[in-house]
Amino acid sequence: MKICMIGTGYVGLVSGVCFSDLGNDVICVDKDINKIKDLKNGIIPIYEPGLEELVIKNYKNKKLKFSTNLKKSVLKSDIIFICVGTPTKKKTDSADLKQVFNVAKEIRSCISKYKIIVTKSTVPVMTGDEIEKILSKNKSKKLFSVVSNPEFLREGEAIRDFSYPDRVIIGTSSKKANKILKNLYSPLISKGAKYINTSRRASELIKYASNAFLATKITFINEIANLCERINVNVEDISIGIGLDKRIGGRFLRAGPAYGGSCFPKDTKAIVATANKFKINLSLIKSVIKSNSNRSSILLKRIFELLKGKIKNKKICFLGVTFKANTDDMRDSSSLQMIPFLVKKGAIVNYYDPTGPKSIFSKYNNVTYSNNIKNAISRSDLIIIHTEWNDFKSINFKSSLKNKKCIIYDMRNIYSASKMKDQNIKYFGIGRSINLIQK
Ligand code: NAD
Repeated sequence: MKICMIGTGYVGLVSGVCFSDLGNDVICVDKDINKIKDLKNGIIPIYEPGLEELVIKNYKNKKLKFSTNLKKSVLKSDIIFICVGTPTKKKTDSADLKQVFNVAKEIRSCISKYKIIVTKSTVPVMTGDEIEKILSKNKSKKLFSVVSNPEFLREGEAIRDFSYPDRVIIGTSSKKANKILKNLYSPLISKGAKYINTSRRASELIKYASNAFLATKITFINEIANLCERINVNVEDISIGIGLDKRIGGRFLRAGPAYGGSCFPKDTKAIVATANKFKINLSLIKSVIKSNSNRSSILLKRIFELLKGKIKNKKICFLGVTFKANTDDMRDSSSLQMIPFLVKKGAIVNYYDPTGPKSIFSKYNNVTYSNNIKNAISRSDLIIIHTEWNDFKSINFKSSLKNKKCIIYDMRNIYSASKMKDQNIKYFGIGRSINLIQK
């Protein structure tokens, strides 16, 4: 099939490459000229395991092309996926749909034969209705179908998630569009993905409801972790104990920093804003948003406790600054709140991230980047394990630490508290018994 992805970011690039790997002819379009130029030269703009090999292979095979020319690319394609950003509007917390509607306006003039316009971007319920209105201004509705097909991939696991999804959701009442899309996804369906054809509005809401639910699960276990720390109980025992109940399930029950990234923070706000429009109070999701935005303050308070209130001139090392492991995505990462706060209080912050230095921290005099773990941690007073990269899982702290009084605050509970205690290392995890910290 001839496919055009509009927006070659985390979603557009990964899904475009994967569609090409399934044998389709795919053109990935972006208005960012440098991004397209780099991609044509085999330079991948994002960190995503396995992506580079797939891009190079399919680009060489000519199954995958890159372009900045939206109109030409749409004219050549039968299925158009809109994969542009839908960030949060500052004033209203609703999703800013400017990019999506601009694309719809650009596509309008290129529809001369039947095309399926699919929103893969996460868009509020009834956005498909608006896109349809834009497209039908001077076009017969018979020439196109507007379909919702939300994407559920996770950064860091994106290729696997795209290739082996739990489900494919197709929101359309058009039998023709449904048949074509079912055919497009048939290789994934044959590997076990459930295919759900539902209404466009339901499909749009499924995406927001999924993300809100997952954000709720994370926030729930983070709050339980706070309680665990006060009562000498291990939150991991609680996660296992409740997660084995099939009605609950064990995933997304790992306590840690505030949830971040490009999806949960913006999508929880957007679903509340949509509900407000219909005078529906999503009080539970509102509480989740509030609890999550307090999360970094709670962890910062712990940092103060660990350093006995003396932050000034303390050398604090962050291992990982992205919102989670296996991505270079800094959007809404909790480090963006924690690092500036600690620097303001006089700390000297040094960080290492496997995806390299981050320009956002270059404006702070007291924030520096180390290009390896050993240099980053050796002279620290406090080490914060902020993300869970494999690189951080087997550090020999005993031999690497020059400051023997250094404290480790493991926000991902990677290490065993008792093993740290045996080595005389001051160690603190999330939601773990306080009596395991060495005094
Ligand atoms: P992104 O910012 O990485 O990529 C968006 C791309 O669209 C950018 O490269 C931008 O230059 C391009 N663009 C914007 N307007 C354009 C236009 N008129 N023509 C051509 N290109 C244009 O965004 P993303 O993270 O890929 O997210 C895209 C959408 O997918 C969002 O709605 C997001 O919520 C959703 N989503 C993201 C993820 C994720 O893990 N990142 C997962 C599921 C869903």
